[in-house]
Amino acid sequence: MSLDNHLTTQELRALDAAHHIHPFSDTAEMRAKGARVITRADGVWLQDSEGNRILDGMAGLWCVNIGYGRRELADVAYRQMQQLPFYNTFFMTTHPPAVELSAKLAEIAPGDKNRVFFASGGSDANDTNIRLVRHYWAALGKPDKSVIISRKNGYHGSSVGSASLGGMAPMHAQGGLPIPDITHIDQPHWWAEGGDLSPEEFGLARARQLEEAIDRIGEHRVAAFIAEPVQGAGGVIIPPETYWPEISRICREREILLIADEVITGFGRTGRWFGSETYDIDPDIMTIAKGMSSGYQPIGGSILRESVAQVIEEGGEFNHGYTYSSHPVAAAVALENIRILQEEKIVEQVAEDTAPYLAAKWHMLADHPMVGQARICGMMGALELTPDVAARAPFANTGTVGLMTRERCFANGLVMRHVGDKMIISPPLTISHTEIDRLVELAWQSLDEGM
Ligand code: PLP
Repeated sequence: MSLDNHLTTQELRALDAAHHIHPFSDTAEMRAKGARVITRADGVWLQDSEGNRILDGMAGLWCVNIGYGRRELADVAYRQMQQLPFYNTFFMTTHPPAVELSAKLAEIAPGDKNRVFFASGGSDANDTNIRLVRHYWAALGKPDKSVIISRKNGYHGSSVGSASLGGMAPMHAQGGLPIPDITHIDQPHWWAEGGDLSPEEFGLARARQLEEAIDRIGEHRVAAFIAEPVQGAGGVIIPPETYWPEISRICREREILLIADEVITGFGRTGRWFGSETYDIDPDIMTIAKGMSSGYQPIGGSILRESVAQVIEEGGEFNHGYTYSSHPVAAAVALENIRILQEEKIVEQVAEDTAPYLAAKWHMLADHPMVGQARICGMMGALELTPDVAARAPFANTGTVGLMTRERCFANGLVMRHVGDKMIISPPLTISHTEIDRLVELAWQSLDEGM
């Protein structure tokens, strides 16, 4: 049993090394050191098998928005498992958690995003989106409109379809990706790629690559553009202010659908319910997951604009669905999570208090000699580590300094992730001022130790 574990840390590590293949982990490094064993968590604090308390600056994987240890979610899962642990919504059936969650999502999603197709997470939701947008254009008599444009260094998941949408070069290097009819434009990462342009000029230039791509491929061939409002796994790339208005103009004027991947930015992360609201984007489809259930259950989905859903429905049966689409336990837990976010006014609290406090503290880290830029949007932030702040120069051996900094953070009791030589955070939205102070203190100390 995994709850009151009778195995020692060493035994757990040995069994783990023998039998468990980890996602995105360096096997040689893990074999040498042994995996860290996390056994429990409460609020923003993790506890490992050796009794250490660690401040989780990543909310798990950008998902535990309401923090760990919320008893209400466990109670709802227990009750739902007793009443109806599983049933599907295929073949003209439904169940109350699926109905209520769809209606709740339609209520909180901006504008006319009224219809939901459920998945088990973000990757399969984005796979759904690939099929949805192609089915949409086929239903309108334009089956040639099948190309999806996305961005280099964007992250949309790990399944074959979603990793193809993503623009992560190391992922494309394995397994024959990307699939056909997906093309990538550059990311709006001003600090690293802006050169002599101002952020505003650079934002416009990068957005206009979308129009150039549409012209090159032919509007009659392009189905959709997909992007994260703020690129998360790519390193918290916050777009210049000019970027999204220009992307929105292009999507409006050209005949293509806009998909906002809100898997990280949804459910309060940027200080509004959705990143699309923060950036005044009006997408046709939004991908959701993670914060929808605060990670307490695996669930994701696509929220569609009413008019897009109608075309899909008129196009006949959509031959698509996952066994765990609208899983009743996951849906009940997501509903309870959203109830807590609403009743405790957690998103409002982020906007009015927590995010401004975190921003003020986070920006202080820009004074550290290793930090070239400290940027933050709501409750997601990044530090650009550099050997030469003025030149915005990269380190010779990309990623090594970031990796060492991550390790020092962990040894000091802080989970902060590295993406190359960027250090990133995305703590639970419920983090207190004192805990933010501690996070920033530990980050500074860990940077100092690397000097
Ligand atoms: N989209 C974005 C923006 C993500 O950040 C992620 C995961 O980090 C995904 C999709 C994939 O979601 P999942 O890991 O739940 O499949």
